[in-house]
Amino acid sequence: MAKIIDGKAISAQIKEELKEKVAAMKADGIEVTLAVIQVGKDAASSVYVGNKKKACAYIGIRSLAYELEEDTSQEELLALIEDLNGRNDVNGILVQLPLPGHIDEDKVVRAISPRKDVDGFHPQSVGALCIGQKGFVSCTPAGIIQLLKRSGIGIEGKECVVIGRSNIVGKPMALLLLRENGTVTVAHSRTKDLKEVTKRADILIVAVGKPKMITRDYIKEGAVVIDVGIHRNEGNKLCGDVDYEDVLPVCSAITPVPGGVGPMTIAMLMNNCVESAGC
Ligand code: NDP
Repeated sequence: MAKIIDGKAISAQIKEELKEKVAAMKADGIEVTLAVIQVGKDAASSVYVGNKKKACAYIGIRSLAYELEEDTSQEELLALIEDLNGRNDVNGILVQLPLPGHIDEDKVVRAISPRKDVDGFHPQSVGALCIGQKGFVSCTPAGIIQLLKRSGIGIEGKECVVIGRSNIVGKPMALLLLRENGTVTVAHSRTKDLKEVTKRADILIVAVGKPKMITRDYIKEGAVVIDVGIHRNEGNKLCGDVDYEDVLPVCSAITPVPGGVGPMTIAMLMNNCVESAGC
């Protein structure tokens, strides 16, 4: 019987640990503060921003909300980031993506000071991860490492296959698994014979962005399967990139959708915020 990796419970545990840390920091006179910037009123972004603010309030992190109009200019946004970079009372800065089309996301990400880059998207943060130096790590892959470790799943020496090579999931995921001494393969849309590659995996991370694409014929018997995907199916129900019911009988452990990787992303963002105040 496969183990169901409970991301809800593990993220709740991390939040409790962070709550204690933040209380201890407060007692030492340190207030952790996150600035959250949203440009426009994209409905999905508003939900994500709302959830981040709620998590901050629960843990005891002060959050400053900047809700800017859709037609805010790039210059105005960059000026706000520059101001926040210089403020000693702000530890972390988060700009909710996607941004409206007239704003260059890359420029905005690069404008955030790497010391306050709690999303871990700045090229300096990515570079630090690449060469094994200290820096903020993208929250979803960092959360997956926590899911594995806290479920007692060893990574060292294991065959790890990551499907997907995006900058926010696939690539940092591969680097983190490498840092944990896994033997890592990254598959993508040009990979020849994907099944042959994925069937080698002791640990398979699926971030392909295609609902229920991964069925049992991609899985080695007894593999650990981590599903990063989030989609709404025809019945408006959430599902992942993995066909959960089909894969469940052949794997040794699996993350469900919802309740697997999803809750870990915010927990790790909160972790990065706490770290941003500690350095
Ligand atoms: P992207 O669309 O940026 O990347 C998808 C990757 O999958 C690409 O590298 C692409 O390859 C590869 N791919 C696409 N089709 C195939 C195929 N048929 N065979 C092999 N590889 C393929 O997605 P993201 O990384 O941003 O996200 C992946 C999923 O995770 C999405 O469902 C997203 O919603 C979800 N997500 C969930 C989060 C969470 O908190 N749980 C956070 C972030 C994302 P190529 O590079 O060659 O195009």
